[in-house]
Amino acid sequence: MTLAKSVLSSDGLQLNLTVDLETPEERHAALLVQRRGLEPPIDVEALAASMATVANKKFPLKIDGLCLDLKLSGVRPKIWISDGLHRVRRRFTLAHEIGHIRIPWHTGTIVDEVDVPHSRERGKYVEMEAEANRFAAELLMPTVWVLRCIERTHHPTDLMRLIIKVADVSFDAALFRVQKLCPTGYVGAAVRDGFIAWSGRTRGTNAKPPAVGSRLDEFDTLVVEAPRELSSSTTTYLWWKVRDTVRIPGEPEEPWREILGRMLLSIPEEQRFLTQQRVNAVIGAAFSRARNAQTADEFYLAALEQCQNRNDRDRWLKAIVDHPDFPSYLIARCHQQAKKRLAP
Ligand SMILES: [Zn+2]
Repeated sequence: MTLAKSVLSSDGLQLNLTVDLETPEERHAALLVQRRGLEPPIDVEALAASMATVANKKFPLKIDGLCLDLKLSGVRPKIWISDGLHRVRRRFTLAHEIGHIRIPWHTGTIVDEVDVPHSRERGKYVEMEAEANRFAAELLMPTVWVLRCIERTHHPTDLMRLIIKVADVSFDAALFRVQKLCPTGYVGAAVRDGFIAWSGRTRGTNAKPPAVGSRLDEFDTLVVEAPRELSSSTTTYLWWKVRDTVRIPGEPEEPWREILGRMLLSIPEEQRFLTQQRVNAVIGAAFSRARNAQTADEFYLAALEQCQNRNDRDRWLKAIVDHPDFPSYLIARCHQQAKKRLAP
């Protein structure tokens, strides 16, 4: 993988860090994995017991666990973990507590409340929780290991299945890992009762995922292949591969300027000039993104993606993109662009 690069840490240890290890807490987790030669499934019970006194406790419902005596010299830290947690949740919680122990600036006592009241001063607490979660994700699903898995299976759905099975993590934990580390060219969604509960895309992907809160069957699938899916007891996870090519559906029937002029007549006169500029900006952005495109098909795919990504709050631009003549406009525009690209 070209992503991988080696970095020498301060104590001279050779680390396989990657550009994806962006935060110090993730690097602390990667360091721990490497020093101890860990491989998924990570034995978090043994790991926690090796660095802290772990006790099972009965907590009020909202507390998963807590860490005591962090960074007190001469005192062994303690992890108290709720005895009512499902296995996978317990594993993530333990990995999270190990994060509090290993992240040097986490000190004192930290209680992991599931819902922290909004009224409380909670900025620093929320930040430490996010840091411990990033540590836990890197510990349970190390980046270097995930990248090796990606060499075996590129498709996010297959990768999710593999991560859940081998790393013994939740569907959602695997979902975020996959979104972060999978190659460019995929959009994904988590669907509950037919509605989009979460959506995202892998890094560098231009195509737009379905909108959260919308119905799955409203998703415009022009630029994506059929999805692959997997389901937990409550949620279906879908990932679509963005098409490498789309067939442009026809030949130009009239010059694109004429079609655009006609479409602009359907909106108020005072909005036309600005809207025309915005349409040109969207198409211009698509064509400059499609740097290597040669054919009308390739320009058409780029233009479709860019139109999906336009600003939805721009009511008049939306009116043009939704206009029945817009497909003819796009066809004419892309054919002309291909001719231009071929011209010496
Ligand atoms: Zn915590």
